[in-house]
Amino acid sequence: MKTNQILVRYGELSTKGKNRSSFIGRLRDNVRQTFSDIEGFRVKAERDRMFIYLDDEAAMEQVLARLPRVFGIQTFSPVTQAELSLESMQEAAMKVMEKLDTDQKSFKVSVKRPNKAFPHEKPEIVQAVGSQVLRNYPGLSVQMKDPDIDLKIEVREEGAFMMAETIQGAGGLPVGAGGKALLMLSGGLDSPVAGYHMLKRGVRLELIHFFSPPFTNERAKEKVFDLAEKLSGFGSSVNLHIIPFTKLQQEVHKQVPDNITMTSTRRMMMRVADLVLEETKCQAIVTGESLGQVASQTLESLHAINAVTHTPVLRPLIAMDKLDIIETAQAIDTYDISIRPFEDCCTIFTPANPKTKPKLEKVEYYENFVDFDELIREAAAERETIKFPRAKAAAFDDLL
Ligand code: ATP
Ligand code: MG
Repeated sequence: MKTNQILVRYGELSTKGKNRSSFIGRLRDNVRQTFSDIEGFRVKAERDRMFIYLDDEAAMEQVLARLPRVFGIQTFSPVTQAELSLESMQEAAMKVMEKLDTDQKSFKVSVKRPNKAFPHEKPEIVQAVGSQVLRNYPGLSVQMKDPDIDLKIEVREEGAFMMAETIQGAGGLPVGAGGKALLMLSGGLDSPVAGYHMLKRGVRLELIHFFSPPFTNERAKEKVFDLAEKLSGFGSSVNLHIIPFTKLQQEVHKQVPDNITMTSTRRMMMRVADLVLEETKCQAIVTGESLGQVASQTLESLHAINAVTHTPVLRPLIAMDKLDIIETAQAIDTYDISIRPFEDCCTIFTPANPKTKPKLEKVEYYENFVDFDELIREAAAERETIKFPRAKAAAFDDLL
């Protein structure tokens, strides 16, 4: 008897008609890549469900811990495989029950028996396994309709498969099924949450971060690395592009009156992002902007920022309350990273009184005195690109 399989049930993708098989293929590839560090990991995708096969229980534990983050999965169940005998099934049932909370719970055994050669009929199997469980867990009450614990047994050619737990998956769509977008990732609270929402809708991410040494330090960069690592845990790897932004930022401060530098800086970021977007074949830019949070996040300001591009700029948090954003940040484990106290390039250059209603014509007028194009091309070209997750590379480094 061994506990070495997981049954995975698909999420929303089951409703996608003709696209179904490509969605399933995508999910299978994402699952494979998420667990590529686990030796012996195998996955088989069928039309209605997917099976994961593992070598041992240590691998099982690791996969069960990380699987709830992979988008496109509704629920999943660990499966214990017994040999084709009533004794082995009884023994396996004990193993399954031992993992569950059985206090004051109702219970039943359900059997499917596609393997007609197995010499015992369904009622016999129910009787043998059910009585064994009730003997060991006298607190359980039997209930046929909607019991708390439904111990399911499927008798197939290869053995008897048993499960009782249904664990909630992440839902959403498999990452990559919805194209690719470029997320502007600062070290703050909002942008990682914005990225999470896009990933959940199946959009793959490239990440772009604007870095202004010496005004921002290595610790600030490390923060962004850690956020990128988290965002790579949802079923798809991500590339982070670090843009040297100091020159552009200083030029903006030289040319543009203080109270509109914020808007102008954002416009420069957009223009650099547009170049990276083209090269990396992304279809949209994503930001963590949320209406009214700060001066640069008024509709007037967003209008002035947007005017530099025809690319769709998606702002998943635009109408969300800060408290809800914080709650999500906590749930996806980015909160503690985001609140580390290192300044990002915008915090440092923030003027005392930024305009909340910058006029586009005014911003354009001041920007006109310099040829920013060259600086923008240079910033995009001199970027450093790092792939996440980095875990395997780091482990390998340790060996050298
Ligand atoms: P965040 O919590 O994401 O930093 P914020 O509320 O601090 O957001 P701003 O600082 O105004 O808001 O930034 C708005 C958006 O612009 C961010 O959500 C992010 O998408 C982008 N952005 C800001 N600074 C940077 C940066 N240094 N690199 C990349 N993107 C940035
Ligand atoms: Mg910020």
